[in-house]
Amino acid sequence: MNDSAHAIPSQPDATAGDYMVSALALNGQVRAFACRTTRLCQEAQNIHQMSPVAAVALGRLMTGVLLMAEQGLKNTTDTISMIIRSNGPLQGMTVVGSGHQTVRGYCYQPVVETLYKRPGKLDIGQAVGEGTLTVIKDLGLKEPYMGKVELVSGEIAEDITYYLASSEQTPSAVGLGVLVDANGISHAGGFMVQMLPDATEETIQYLETRLSGFPEVTYWMQEGFNPDQILDLLFGDPQIRYFPHKPLAYTCTCSRERMEQNLIALGAREISELAQDPEGINLECHFCAKHYRFSQQQLQNLLAEMVKPRPD
Ligand SMILES: [Zn+2]
Repeated sequence: MNDSAHAIPSQPDATAGDYMVSALALNGQVRAFACRTTRLCQEAQNIHQMSPVAAVALGRLMTGVLLMAEQGLKNTTDTISMIIRSNGPLQGMTVVGSGHQTVRGYCYQPVVETLYKRPGKLDIGQAVGEGTLTVIKDLGLKEPYMGKVELVSGEIAEDITYYLASSEQTPSAVGLGVLVDANGISHAGGFMVQMLPDATEETIQYLETRLSGFPEVTYWMQEGFNPDQILDLLFGDPQIRYFPHKPLAYTCTCSRERMEQNLIALGAREISELAQDPEGINLECHFCAKHYRFSQQQLQNLLAEMVKPRPD
């Protein structure tokens, strides 16, 4: 890191939970977001029992989605989904975030070989491989917004930065970090910095210099710094203005009704095939691993409902 004149905040971090903070810095020319996602990444790990590379990749994408949600969603009912489809061992991931500071997600191949870039540094880019990043924003309008880009490196932060620059014409810097040790995920978090339209060339230059030597998020977290302090260290701006913290959580929205809707979407022929099995079927939610049992009788009832002529 470069030695700046700005004093490092020395207060240890007292609040242990996951949260998002946003801020305005450098004379209101830059908007910034930072978050700690350690617990929700641990929760995803408990649900999905992923190998280290998968846990880190999913944790980075979930952290990125939460930052994107904070930046781009206005209503609590809005959602943003990020879908990676790729040719590496992980094959891809789906993550959904809401305007209510919740996130959920899963990796298509949760258990893969541990790949290293160098000793101690997991190779996420190689585990993800080449592919695409699709972003779907449902803002409660008639049609959801959709954008798609090729992956740049599969390291997630670079891919999101590229997406923001090319699809949304928003120059940004994104840092994401998930650290695993022998006991599992120890630290996770990230930040996103965006130039506002009136940012001067001088401000852009200043920030580029600060960013170029800035250590990884997990380095600061290991040292005990919280998201506010990380932004403080990044900007070196005594006038930085913080907005209130928002707690973050891993939350699934699945329900029996939704599972039924998914079944209905398969179509009558598919359901009648499933209804042949006297054992019924057992559906598992991809996001939270909760099981939903449908007995043969329940499937037959569902089918009867579907083929019943609708009253005009
Ligand atoms: Zn669920």
